[in-house]
Amino acid sequence: LITLALESSCDETSVAVLKNGREVLSNIVSSQIDLHKRFGGVVPEVASRKHVENISYVIDEALEKANLNFEDIDIIGVTYGPGLVGALLVGLSTAKALAYSLKKPIIGVNHIEGHIYANFIEYKDLEPPFICLIVSGGHTHLVYMKDYGIYEVLGKTRDDAAGEAFDKVARAIGMGYPGGPLIDELSKIGDKEAIDFPRTYLENGSLDFSFSGLKSSVLNYLNNSKMKGIPISKEDVAASFQQAVIDVLVDKTMTAAQKYEVDTIVIAGGVAANSGLREEFRRRANKNQFKLMVPPLSLCTDNAAMIGCAAYYDYINGYTADMYLNAIPNLKLGEKYVKVANVK
Ligand code: ATP
Ligand code: MG
Ligand code: FE
Repeated sequence: LITLALESSCDETSVAVLKNGREVLSNIVSSQIDLHKRFGGVVPEVASRKHVENISYVIDEALEKANLNFEDIDIIGVTYGPGLVGALLVGLSTAKALAYSLKKPIIGVNHIEGHIYANFIEYKDLEPPFICLIVSGGHTHLVYMKDYGIYEVLGKTRDDAAGEAFDKVARAIGMGYPGGPLIDELSKIGDKEAIDFPRTYLENGSLDFSFSGLKSSVLNYLNNSKMKGIPISKEDVAASFQQAVIDVLVDKTMTAAQKYEVDTIVIAGGVAANSGLREEFRRRANKNQFKLMVPPLSLCTDNAAMIGCAAYYDYINGYTADMYLNAIPNLKLGEKYVKVANVK
């Protein structure tokens, strides 16, 4: 079964071709980062326009790389949320046009679910149940994945997402966009114990997250140092900030894994590309004898292969969509599209 998958929820236009869900024949990612850099973040309207310009070329390239034609496609998967509405609509309209003309089923995929499924591509034997930490630009979710498509959200951020905190702190110390990879690099040469930034654990037993206090604390530190004329070490600020994020993410994930008695921990999303976070997870998983699944860097950040994998499992579990599929900017994890014909 050949899946064509489209992803356009934010600032990457991506198209992938997969065989039977877990085998990636091609995964083309056209990033708009350079376009948005000068604005210090993603400009939604600019992103949508660029997706329109790019998407046909990216589809052609993905098919060419997979050595297949439109006639070979069996199902079409597309991200329909969460994300920027205008950006989502580009992938969605294209997917609908393809599904209609090729007379093939269309499957609406949740982008966050896609991030989790990146792990199914990398680890061919991975099966639920497991605990998954999804840390991306817009989300921080701690999830118990019981079965394919079945999630219990154990905790999420009450304010900033982890990736958002990285991006904002990077901006504050005068680095470019996106901030995550730059903070990661600086941290390698900085001292993570130089500054004692707060770790926010919230109420006893809570698996929620909060990063805005940490972000304010970094901003206060920078302002105070400037006022007092104390030189700032960007490397130390980056490393100390990063460690504060890592400690809370890893601690809460370990607590969840113990509580739900799983033997496997999975991490996903753009921030899962962070080298410090990967290292700390490896150390702690090893110490507590959990199996740890970490996607390769290319599958952590946005890509269509992960969407294609999720589409495949939705399809075999009976979740196809129809031409009424629309973009849902705040789509919740585990929420499934109900076909109009099935609405009672
Ligand atoms: P969402 O998936 O929540 O809709 P998104 O798709 O924009 O948001 P991703 O593409 O999953 O987010 O991840 C992008 C985020 O990951 C950015 O905030 C970026 O700074 C962060 N990021 C990427 N690489 C790293 C890294 N090495 N260390 C820390 N953060 C990183
Ligand atoms: Mg992106
Ligand atoms: Fe994402």
